[in-house]
Amino acid sequence: MINPFTDEYFMKKALQEAEMAFEKGEIPVGAVIVIDNKVIARSHNLTELLHDVTAHAEMQSITAAANYLGGKYLMGCTLYVTLEPCQMCAGALYWSQISRIVYGATDENRGFAKMGTQLHPKTTVVSGIMANEASELMKRFFAEKRK
Ligand SMILES: [Zn+2]
Repeated sequence: MINPFTDEYFMKKALQEAEMAFEKGEIPVGAVIVIDNKVIARSHNLTELLHDVTAHAEMQSITAAANYLGGKYLMGCTLYVTLEPCQMCAGALYWSQISRIVYGATDENRGFAKMGTQLHPKTTVVSGIMANEASELMKRFFAEKRK
């Protein structure tokens, strides 16, 4: 039996969320949080709609997952996000003690790695999963904005 629950499988769900952000005119970033192969939170960037610079996809998913689990820590969870988290989200992920972060495209300007933000020592990171799809969506968004 091939395990259907690959990182690509869940990243596709995060990309679907990013598409929803795109359709709303938001910078297209999507996220899902998974525990035991079950999606317990899904969200996309809503900073324009909510007039809230903290409404990044990751921040909303962290809150939703903690609500679902009934506790503030996300040990045992994996976050899938289409774009490398910024330093705000990396900071929140630090506090959540999330076990794994899987992201798609690298954010050369505002990614946490560039900013030198530390993740929790127990958090493992995988990058580049469906990175092309994620960055194509971003490019398409900014190209349409310029029109
Ligand atoms: Zn962020």
